[in-house]
Amino acid sequence: MWWHSIDYLKRDGRQRGMLVHRGFSLHRVPRLMLWCRLRGHRPVVDGYGPHKPGLDAARWVACGRCGVRPDPQGSLDPDGWEVGQSYDGPYAGDEMNDPLMRALLGPGNTVIKGGMHLPGRWPATPTGTLGGELVIGRTFGVFSAEVTIGAAGAEHTLAAHLRVWPFGALYLHTEGFGAWLQRRLIPEGYTSRAINVSVDDWAIRWQLWAREGEWSRNDPWWMHGRISLDLVQALFGPKRYSYETVDGPMLGWVTMPEGDSHQMQLKLERVRLGRPRLNRAAKYHWSVEWTADSPGIETRPGKGGIISASVRVPDEAVEARCWDVLACALIARKLGEDRTRYGYRPENMEG
Ligand SMILES: [Zn+2]
Repeated sequence: MWWHSIDYLKRDGRQRGMLVHRGFSLHRVPRLMLWCRLRGHRPVVDGYGPHKPGLDAARWVACGRCGVRPDPQGSLDPDGWEVGQSYDGPYAGDEMNDPLMRALLGPGNTVIKGGMHLPGRWPATPTGTLGGELVIGRTFGVFSAEVTIGAAGAEHTLAAHLRVWPFGALYLHTEGFGAWLQRRLIPEGYTSRAINVSVDDWAIRWQLWAREGEWSRNDPWWMHGRISLDLVQALFGPKRYSYETVDGPMLGWVTMPEGDSHQMQLKLERVRLGRPRLNRAAKYHWSVEWTADSPGIETRPGKGGIISASVRVPDEAVEARCWDVLACALIARKLGEDRTRYGYRPENMEG
């Protein structure tokens, strides 16, 4: 058993608002596995695949209760052994006592036909690892708590954390410990499961037995949840743009610096940015939406023309009733700048 600890503040430098950031782990901790010690391991076939014919597949032996594997774990024929079935086959070394096995294998051989390796002895003192990370100080988010059950092959068998702003966070994980829970809850597959709740961005979110790092449209409703805590949003609605046509359509002419000239339809719009049910805080401006005849106005060589867009015009232009003239000038300037940026040249100037 040995202890390892690392001071991240010393390694990575001090971080603002963080007093302690330390990782720790206790390795080669003997696992108790009381039931298996009293009753012996419960050998079952474990493995993966094939998910489709011809794909990779493997089978080995593990204890269905504590997850410990014999050493070596063995390599069984995927055609003959189903994942999850109990293993009643021989172990390496058995052939010494069994004349039939000895004849089958030959001297000193643990490989049976089909490339099958026999599993070895169960480890006498299985060990695991306990580890974690402690942060004292300001972290991120507001609150988060999570428990994860790692699937077979996951780095951590069990993991949990608690994070509370501005006090800090505690992360804990095990390797080996809790394998009985893993074997019961996720007997097959390689997708870890998480249960968590967090408060962040003015919302409470939770996951219940959700597949880690995955989300699907077909997930049941209770698997992922979110409640908004944003009272302003709940009362007055989300902030967004809305448009109201006030004048037009009118005809306008845009003459480009390159000499080409285009006819277009112009519409004056009052643009509102704000929450639907909160008029006082809403912001307004004027915008002219323009629509040119096909094929539009070309600015990027070979990319086709722009048919429609909008430009912002100042209040004064609307009050003075010259918004259409100003809009045409602004459109010409904007598109002219685009032409310069994209390296546009009129056709009659090429070659
Ligand atoms: Zn066991």
